[in-house]
Amino acid sequence: MAKVLCVLYDDPAGGYPPEYARDAIPGIDHYPDGTTTPSPSAVDFKPGALLGCVSGELGLRKFLEDGGHEFVVTSDKDGPNSTFEKELVDADIVISQPFWPAYLTEERIAKAKKLKLAITAGIGSDHVDLQAAIDKGITVAEVTFCNSISVAEHVVMMILALVRNYIPSYQWVVKGGWNIADCVERAYDIEGMHVGTVGAGRIGLAVLKRLKPFDVKLHYTDKHRLPANVEKDLGLTYHPDADSLVKVCDVVTVNAPLHPGTEHLFNDTLIGKMKRGAYLVNTARGKIADRDAVVRALESGQLAGYAGDVWFPQPAPRDHPWRTMPHHGMTPHVSGTTLSAQARYAAGTREILEDFFAGKPLREEYLIVAGGKLAGAGAHAYTAGDATKGSEEAAEFKKAG
Ligand code: NDP
Repeated sequence: MAKVLCVLYDDPAGGYPPEYARDAIPGIDHYPDGTTTPSPSAVDFKPGALLGCVSGELGLRKFLEDGGHEFVVTSDKDGPNSTFEKELVDADIVISQPFWPAYLTEERIAKAKKLKLAITAGIGSDHVDLQAAIDKGITVAEVTFCNSISVAEHVVMMILALVRNYIPSYQWVVKGGWNIADCVERAYDIEGMHVGTVGAGRIGLAVLKRLKPFDVKLHYTDKHRLPANVEKDLGLTYHPDADSLVKVCDVVTVNAPLHPGTEHLFNDTLIGKMKRGAYLVNTARGKIADRDAVVRALESGQLAGYAGDVWFPQPAPRDHPWRTMPHHGMTPHVSGTTLSAQARYAAGTREILEDFFAGKPLREEYLIVAGGKLAGAGAHAYTAGDATKGSEEAAEFKKAG
């Protein structure tokens, strides 16, 4: 029997919700590429419930305990005295979400002598030292596609919010004002703008498709080129690298995974090559942008706005400069954990567990690391290595709380 250690974000400050704004969520059984949404044998939750927090338990407790497994759920994940670090020593399986990541560094992996499987209940396994997982033969799996569309919707929202200066305008209403000139002195239409994505995988392509009706000029760069018919249908301009793309775009969105090839990609040099007054939207991973370079660019006017929901580390320290820099539209890491997305990644986590316990191969598209090498989706989109360095700083949030 296995010990399953699950790290989830805290319950709402007002307690676990007794009811929801809506009675149901739409049933979706296929993703846009034709693959099926998660298909476990059953689920023990009502889709639309809050599953990603500690009391939600991803709806897994009954399934795991009926199977005789031990199930430990905690939000206390950072620092050497955290529940996560103590429970990790004899855990067989770790489940974590990118929104509140349980960083599995090389040091932690070395202490976790029994660890066989690290599941990301979501997408993006950069909180795991993939090189250490490769070296120790640990399988890393995520629920590919589960929240890609959730994020794509968020990206479009953030592009519009920045370009149209929505957040300051909303704040004028709340403050009791009617300051139209203050609202519009930084407001534009996106119509006619050049919008580009770094990464045109599941999220990036969905963003491009959603932006086409806005009559913008669309650009992308990616390690692999999209099929010619997709480029033609969307009127895409392909760029061999981010350098070439950022020079011509008014809006840039980042939709590539964090790995050694993308860490700090948006530094002073690359941001300096963007058009003055460009907007940057990064819902991929905070570490893809250089924290201080973003602040400098907003202060100088090189960037007109920066938005996203990803930070490094997470939770972001209370004095993280992205909380207070000018012209930003930051949220905590929420885009991929809508109630709609939670239903899919909770079911996907259960599907991975069911297959693992049954000794069946996991779905190929869920694999990031398996058999001592990058595999499945990981072999396609990641490079081997470690992107967790500096994650111990996440403990500062707890100390300052
Ligand atoms: P995909 O794997 O479908 O797409 C990622 C794309 O990025 C792939 O096409 C990949 O190339 C491309 N890519 C990798 N490295 C580079 C590079 N150096 N330059 C340009 N493109 C590159 O993943 P998703 O679209 O579903 O998700 C993307 C990322 O978004 C995740 O890894 C995660 O970090 C983040 N995410 C954030 C969420 C949130 O809540 N904010 C939720 C879900 C995901 P190829 O495969 O062609 O080699």
